[in-house]
Formats: sequence, C-alpha cells, structure tokens
Amino acid sequence: AKLGGRNALRFYSDEYTHAANQRLSLETGLRRALESELFELRYQPLIDLASDRLIGAEVLVRLSPAAALNSSPAEFIPIMEANGLIVPLGDFVRSQALRQGRAWLDAGLPPLTLAINLSVTEIRRGGLEQRIAQQLAESGYPVSLLELEITESGAMEQGERAQQFLEVIGSLGLRLAIDDFGTGYSSLAYLKRLPVHKLKIDRSFVCDLPDDASAVELVDTIITLGHQLGLSVLAEGVENVGQRDLLRARGCDACQGYLYAPALSAEEFERRFLRSATA
Ligand code: C2E
Ligand code: CA
Ligand code: CA
Ligand code: CA
Repeated sequence: AKLGGRNALRFYSDEYTHAANQRLSLETGLRRALESELFELRYQPLIDLASDRLIGAEVLVRLSPAAALNSSPAEFIPIMEANGLIVPLGDFVRSQALRQGRAWLDAGLPPLTLAINLSVTEIRRGGLEQRIAQQLAESGYPVSLLELEITESGAMEQGERAQQFLEVIGSLGLRLAIDDFGTGYSSLAYLKRLPVHKLKIDRSFVCDLPDDASAVELVDTIITLGHQLGLSVLAEGVENVGQRDLLRARGCDACQGYLYAPALSAEEFERRFLRSATA
C-alpha cells in the first residue's frame, strides 16, 4: 500500500508537470500570436425581437488558424487575463473592430452598434478610459455606436475602480451592457447607480426555454427587472424558434444566437446581414 501510494503520488506529479508544460507552451504561443497579430475578429448579429431586424454585432475574438494553437476563447481568454496579455489583445480587438465599423459606414451600409467585450483585468490596469477615447478618435467611429460589455461579476467585483471607470465611460457617451446577467450576485442598489444601458441574459437560462417553467420564470424576472431599471434586455444563446418566440412574447427587447447566426467573419457578416438589410 505504501509503495502504491508513492507511485500514485509520482503519477500525479507527472500529470501535473505535463499540464503545467502544456499551459506554458500555450502561453508562449499566445504571446507570439499577439506579436504577429494572429488573431481575427468575428461578428455575431444582434437582433431586435419586435421587428426581427439587425441592430448591431457582438465582436468575438478568435485565434487565426495560422497560429496553429487550436485554442478557443473560453480557454485562451482566461489565460490572457491571468498573465496580462488581455490588455494588448483588448487594444487590438478594439482598434480592428472600430476600423471595420468605420469602413462599413464609409461604404454606406446601415449604422450598427458594435458590442465589444471588456475584461476587468483591463479595467484594473488603469488608463483604459483614455485609450478607448483615443481609439474612438483615431477611427472616427461614432461614440454612440460603441457598446462595451462587462460581466456581471466584473461590474460588481471591485467597487470603486470599476465604478469610476464606468462613470467615465458613461460620460463619454458610450453604452454599457452587463454581460452574463443572472450568473453573478448583483446588488440592485449598485446596479441602479451604474450608467448601464443593457442587461444580457446569460445563455444558461435561455437554453432551457421554452418548456422549463422555472427557466421561464427566471427570464421573466430578469426582463421585468431590467425594464423597471429602464434598461434594454437582450437574451444570448437563442438557438431555436421556440426560445425566440417565448422571449418575444415576454417582452425581451433583443437576442443573439445560432438561430440567426454564429459569430461570422466580417465578409460574411457584411454579405448576409448588412447588404441584405439595405436591399
Ligand atoms: P460571451 O461574451 O458570453 O460571448 C458569447 C459566447 O457564446 C461566444 O462564445 C459565442 O460564440 C457563443 N454563442 C453565441 N450564440 C450562441 C448560441 O446560440 N449557442 C451557443 N451554445 N453559444 C453561442 P466565444 O466566441 O467562444 O467566446 C467565449 C467568451 O470569450 C465570451 O463569452 C467572452 O467572455 C470571451 N471573449 C470573446 N471575445 C473576447 C474579447 O474580444 N475580449 C474579451 N475580454 N473577452 C472575449
Ligand atoms: Ca459578451
Ligand atoms: Ca455573454
Ligand atoms: Ca455567457
């Protein structure tokens, strides 16, 4: 038994070393990918439920196939948050997205809200307000068409710094959305004080619609709460008509999800959603 225990320990430690090495080589790869700009943006349509029309796009980052890292955002974003690489990545994503948005406007395509994800790590570093203002000025993209998404836990997490940042962002005229709403523990009093425009209902609540009564009740509660606070409510992860129709009937304002489209390349988004809207 003693021997077995020692072997077990040794085995565990080999496994651990293996995982740590893998993570280290992924981190190295991510650093290189960033230096070579081997990241690409995808655009997922945001749809107004009452009119069934396009209102904007959420910007989602991907590793380029050329980076040969085979890692999804769910894996590499937390790593880049932990090692600080999210700060230059966030700058890259914003400047590319704003440039794309400007190009679409210049091409005479309908104006749309670009929703860009922000990590609290970026907020903690400081100076983000100034960088965003500078990127907006450089791109010439209208301030009123930029929406920043910050997770519920991120917005609640660290009172003062986040609050201060969000106030500056609000005063610049940008829109703010609380992402993954329902997964954190919002203080309603705090939420009311934040310059927020939108709640995004987390996909985990949407996936059990329309048949699960408690999911319906929960989504109903979030929609009512949002509207009472004067906010727009968007449901994410809408994959079928049943979910969409229920959300529409319950007064949810907007949605996004595979029912309409996954996150698309700029070319495909333009062809399928921007050109067809003007036709
Ligand atoms: P998120 O902000 O909650 O983004 C929504 C995620 O749900 C995206 O995954 C999107 O592709 C996926 N999704 C959209 N519709 C559906 C649907 O109908 N069904 C299902 N099952 N999934 C759907 P993605 O692109 O893999 O991104 C994962 C997370 O990575 C994002 O979650 C966000 O937290 C983070 N992320 C992505 N891009 C960025 C970025 O540029 N900056 C930062 N800070 N985080 C990012
Ligand atoms: Ca988001
Ligand atoms: Ca989300
Ligand atoms: Ca989510």
